[in-house]
Amino acid sequence: MKTQTCFIDENAIHSTIQSTTNPESSVVDEILAKALELNGIDFHESALLLNVTQNSDLEKIFDTANKIKDEIYGNRLVLFAPLYISNFCSNNCLYCGFRNDNKEIHRRILKIDEIKEETLHILEQGHKRVLLLMGEDHKFNTLDYFIDAIYAIYSVKDSKGSSIRRINVEIAPLSDEEFKVLSEVPIGTYTVFQETYHYETYKKMHPKGKKSDYFWRLYTMDRALSNGMHDVGIGALFGLYDYRYEVLSLIQHSKYLDSVYGIGPHTISIPRVKPAKNAPASYNLQYAVDDLSFKKLVAVLRISVPYTGIILSTREPASLRNELFNLGVSQISAGSKTTVGGYKQAFNGTENTEEIGQFTLNDCRSSGEVIQDIIKMGFVPSFCTACYRVGRVGEDFMDLAKPGLIKLHCHPNGLTTLKEYLVDYADEETRKVGEKLIEIELEKIPNLKVRQKTIQYLQRIEKGERDLYF
Ligand code: SAM
Ligand code: SF4
Repeated sequence: MKTQTCFIDENAIHSTIQSTTNPESSVVDEILAKALELNGIDFHESALLLNVTQNSDLEKIFDTANKIKDEIYGNRLVLFAPLYISNFCSNNCLYCGFRNDNKEIHRRILKIDEIKEETLHILEQGHKRVLLLMGEDHKFNTLDYFIDAIYAIYSVKDSKGSSIRRINVEIAPLSDEEFKVLSEVPIGTYTVFQETYHYETYKKMHPKGKKSDYFWRLYTMDRALSNGMHDVGIGALFGLYDYRYEVLSLIQHSKYLDSVYGIGPHTISIPRVKPAKNAPASYNLQYAVDDLSFKKLVAVLRISVPYTGIILSTREPASLRNELFNLGVSQISAGSKTTVGGYKQAFNGTENTEEIGQFTLNDCRSSGEVIQDIIKMGFVPSFCTACYRVGRVGEDFMDLAKPGLIKLHCHPNGLTTLKEYLVDYADEETRKVGEKLIEIELEKIPNLKVRQKTIQYLQRIEKGERDLYF
């Protein structure tokens, strides 16, 4: 039983879900009209939208989420690649292939040289952003090792002279002291998923190890933001408990961080549980989220916290990912491997399909294929990392994002980084459709000076300069 009081009010969330079932269409219309003012909606209104089941109302929710996404983020999709450096883990999360009780997995921790090799393969796909991950194991996966890995990744240059420009991290919750140390290291966003905000379910899913402490995990972002970290990301693993409860908790968490630290989470991640070998809770899920509900929850998040990025991974299949791009997703992974050393193995053709990753992937297209497909859908694949490098992070980022000004930086930066990709890594077909898209997008830059400068940047990139940004 949960005894400690905290910002997640389980009773209030449950009773809000109960009291908002079957909302009238007219009520849905009113909420959506308010949402279009881009100031978010209140908690009760989010619950009403989550309880919508009628197709006609769902369509209206999707349409509103799409408009909000367009207004704030435009048609950019920021790309990244995950990099797993160790699958040692002392926890026993019942849904995860890396869990300690999984004795069939080949445990591996990459040496610094191997991390550099993985980085090179990621760079050769055109990526500039990496999400760095490892299991929680205090003997092998130390913070010192992790920091060495970060500097090793930044040090690698590929055949085009490019290097990784931003490393986001997703590792187990750190202590105050550890956050102080990490805050001195040049990283972008620090992310931890609560997995489930429902206490009883959390205790069931995390029977062993440090992770079994619900509150240690719940207050991770408080420790991070109190100890020098600027950008944090949160998330829930959908399928462990009622998705409406998890979404409302994510919203409560976001609003709580905003009210206490003056800054909400930079991103929210929305993984759904996928089958993982020897992970009993990854099969026959009592709370499995079907595709339509998943689309609804993404749209409701976009409407409820319009300025927070939403991250979608390759856990989801290509066709569903394509639909979700229109509903509010702003960052996506592509060409991902969740096995340790997986990029090199794929490059050498020595991938062992029996090898256990953290979970199974459903979008197995290469980065190149994903990029070409999203260009053809009219989205701008962006490799931009400018904000973090010029210090537009935390509160500064939100101050810019809120009035929509971020478009003035992000849209042109999306075009210049796409141009780099087209010149350095794209095949002929991608280059053709990409150049056409850039032409169309240039016309959309409202400020003439910014448009002119973007055109100059594009010309300089064509001639060989790199890393030009606003
Ligand atoms: N070990 C750290 C932790 O648990 O916070 C780092 C992140 S872990 C490598 C990445 C995330 O993968 C977990 O937080 C969990 O949400 C997700 N995950 C684990 N098993 C999964 C599964 N079977 N399907 C989908 N996502 C899963
Ligand atoms: Fe370990 Fe993270 Fe997997 Fe849990 S989710 S078993 S902590 S790697």
